[in-house]
Amino acid sequence: MDFTDILGHERQIDSLKSAIEKGTISHSYLFEGEEGLGKRDLALVFAKTLLCEEGKSEPCNKCSSCRKFDGDNHPDFKITRPVKNLIKIEKVGELIKDMATRPLEGRRKIYIIDDCHTLRLESQNALLKTLEEPPEYINIILITPFKNKIIPTILSRCQIVKFYPLKGSVITNLLVEKYGIDQSEASFIGAFAKGSLRKSIEYATSGKLFEKREEIIKIIDALIKGDKTRALTSLNFFSENKENAEEILDIMIYWFRDLLVFKETGNPNLLVNVDKVEVLSSQYHIDLNKINDIIYRIDETKVNIKRNVNFNLLIETMLLSI
Ligand SMILES: [Zn+2]
Repeated sequence: MDFTDILGHERQIDSLKSAIEKGTISHSYLFEGEEGLGKRDLALVFAKTLLCEEGKSEPCNKCSSCRKFDGDNHPDFKITRPVKNLIKIEKVGELIKDMATRPLEGRRKIYIIDDCHTLRLESQNALLKTLEEPPEYINIILITPFKNKIIPTILSRCQIVKFYPLKGSVITNLLVEKYGIDQSEASFIGAFAKGSLRKSIEYATSGKLFEKREEIIKIIDALIKGDKTRALTSLNFFSENKENAEEILDIMIYWFRDLLVFKETGNPNLLVNVDKVEVLSSQYHIDLNKINDIIYRIDETKVNIKRNVNFNLLIETMLLSI
């Protein structure tokens, strides 16, 4: 793996490379930003680069260090991840002990602590001592989507690298070029995945998203055309997908937003469901206020599901409002 394998995040990559070139590499970094953006991949490439025997701002991919890194057996690199949502204090103790011994091969030892918010307070405090006075050969990269769960004394010791959601167009291009996904499906995922690389690839490779979308479009179309019994007969579909209720409701919201956009602009290029212009056109007669009201109700249903209000009742009420 190389910097060229990282999708997006150009600014973050440039600043890390420039630190290597200028010799201003920090002992501790915190990579923060939503899940699924590629923080861990970039941390791995950065670690590999720092360990590379060539000492340049790109890994050479040829030296013994790069080869060991790619083979997952570099003795001076450790990645720690939570088990059952917790990184135990014992694990932190082992790490601190390990950090106190010099590198076996090169000039550095690199530690990645992934999902570092799963370190409890005592563990964070234990780690703080090392962050305050790090041995000159270590670099630590902490990764988390929840910076607010990290104690301020750790944050102030770290160089913070913030990650932002990827642009929809970046995701769409990747899916078409690397995964051979059909352009219209890739556009839908690009808009739907909210900038998450991990989710996009999941959606693209499983195909389930589009099965669900087809079913939802059928349900919406029947309801709009006055078939209110469909509200009851659709309940099974929603119950079966209860675990992914948010996703299903998002598909619905995107549908009605498209309808809104299409009515207001008439421009099919602005649609998320760009391959469904025909169906959207057939629903063109719905009033704008009504569409806004439906979107509001779906949003409200999303909130109420999180509050554990009776699921079937919520869905039924929402469907009947369409
Ligand atoms: Zn190398």
